[in-house]
Amino acid sequence: MIKPTLRWGSLTPIGQVRRIIIHHPAAVRYSYLQIHNQHRNQGWSGAGYNYYLQKNHEFYELRGLNVGAHAANENSDSLGVCVEGNYDVENINESLFLRFVDEVRKLMRKHGLTANDVYRHSDVGNTSCPGGYFPWARFKRLIGQAEEVKSIVHEPKQEEVIYVKAGDFQWASGKERFEHILNRHGNSSEQEAYKNDELTVSDAFGVLAKGVLAEPSQTVPEAHKEAWDEYTERGVYNGKNPNHPITRAQHATVTKRIEDGM
Ligand SMILES: [Zn+2]
Repeated sequence: MIKPTLRWGSLTPIGQVRRIIIHHPAAVRYSYLQIHNQHRNQGWSGAGYNYYLQKNHEFYELRGLNVGAHAANENSDSLGVCVEGNYDVENINESLFLRFVDEVRKLMRKHGLTANDVYRHSDVGNTSCPGGYFPWARFKRLIGQAEEVKSIVHEPKQEEVIYVKAGDFQWASGKERFEHILNRHGNSSEQEAYKNDELTVSDAFGVLAKGVLAEPSQTVPEAHKEAWDEYTERGVYNGKNPNHPITRAQHATVTKRIEDGM
């Protein structure tokens, strides 16, 4: 979080934070400084939002824990948290959206709030803010999940790669392989959830566990490649399924082939 040096008029600390109210500035491009200057020019003490996430992923503390000016008659016990963009006319970028989820969740935890304490500006005022394209239902579901649980992330710069993250655990692979595993080993509700972009990370790990156990990777790890190639060439192994486990009976055959000079 960045706390920029700004000139403020008079500010009043919030007694107790009881709610978070979500906003967009209704502008596709709008920096925290533009907001601060515009709000000052209209006679306010400065930027009305308590926190602001820009599209470049910089997260700013503006009014912080002082009473904001973001939702008429609703400011004294709430934090106004705003994400750059105009979600009446554009969709929010996936990685920006997930960053916003994370920042709001941190604020919730800091102030002992639950997802029920998080509102849209339009829930408390006569406005469309944060915009009809803001994925509110998904946002509420994600902020309500335990901190370590995240949805599947489609990294925007590498759309062919799928990441599944939970706490320190991360699994990444080609989108094609994930979809192959899902189609062969996922059940119909998991497949449906994936189509609707609603597959949770625990479901995704379940699908992966079934699929990766049933179909280990066909790539030979570098450390074993020389031996694998040689023993395959000699016929000790048949060259298939390099990462499958081996049984005692198979091991006996392999040992016998080596003893027989293969
Ligand atoms: Zn608003």
